[in-house]
Amino acid sequence: MAFRATVLTLYPEMFPGLLGQSLSGKALARGDWALDCVQIRDFATDRHRSVDDTPAGGGAGMVLKPDVLARAIDHVGEGDNRPRLLMSPRGRPLTQKRVRDLAAGDGAIIVCGRFEGVDQRVIEGRGLEEVSIGDYILSGGEPAAMILLDAVVRILPGVMGNALSGEHESFEGGLLEHPHYTRPQVWEEREIPAVLTSGNHAAIEKWRSEEALKLTRERRPDLLAAQPITK
Ligand code: SAH
Repeated sequence: MAFRATVLTLYPEMFPGLLGQSLSGKALARGDWALDCVQIRDFATDRHRSVDDTPAGGGAGMVLKPDVLARAIDHVGEGDNRPRLLMSPRGRPLTQKRVRDLAAGDGAIIVCGRFEGVDQRVIEGRGLEEVSIGDYILSGGEPAAMILLDAVVRILPGVMGNALSGEHESFEGGLLEHPHYTRPQVWEEREIPAVLTSGNHAAIEKWRSEEALKLTRERRPDLLAAQPITK
C-alpha cells in the first residue's frame, strides 16, 4: 500500500500547497502517495466551535484544547498503526534517518500546532512523537509538516526520476555533499575543476570524497563527531 499522510490542521486549505507541485505533486497525482487533511475545528462541540483556550497559570497566547484535538486524532487513528507525529520546536530534530524510517512505513498522522502549542495531556494521552524541523519558531506546524512530507515523499519508490540521485545526497553518507558543476566549462573566468572533465572515474570519486570531507569538517564538524569515518 502507498504511503498515506493524514494531516490534522486548522488550515487544511494550505494543503497540498508546495506538495502539489513538481516531483511530489506528480507522485500524488499518480497515487504513489496519498494525502488527506482533517479540520481540527470540525471536532469542536461548543456553539462557537472553539479550539483554543487561555493558558493555565496565565501568560500570553492560547493553547489548543486537549479534548478537541483528541477527538480529531481518535477519528483518524483508532486502530491505525501509523506513527503519530506532532510538529513542535521542542521535538527531536528531524534527520534524514528518521525521514528514511518514515518513508519505509505505511504513512504518518501529523498534527500541526498553532498558537502557543497544544495541551501537554493530549501529547501524552495520544502518544504523540514531537518532531522539530530546526531551532526557530514558526507560526504553525503546517509548513513544518510540508517540509517533513517533502523529504519523505522524494525518496518513496518511483518518485525520484533518477533513483541514483538520492544516494549521494548530503547526510546520506554522514557527510555533506561535494560541490556540483555543469557547463559552460568557463563561467566568469571560473573553471570547472579539471579532474571532473578528465574522464578518470577513480580520480573523480576520490576528489568528491575529499571535497565532501573538507566541507563537512569546515561547516559541520558535529556530523563527523557523530560517526566513525572509514577510508
Ligand atoms: N510556544 C511554543 C511555540 C509555538 S509555535 C514553544 O515555544 O515551544 C506554534 C506551532 O508551530 C507549534 O505548536 C508547532 O506545531 C509549530 N512549530 C513552530 N516551530 C516549529 C519547529 N521548529 N518545528 C516544528 N514545528 C514547529
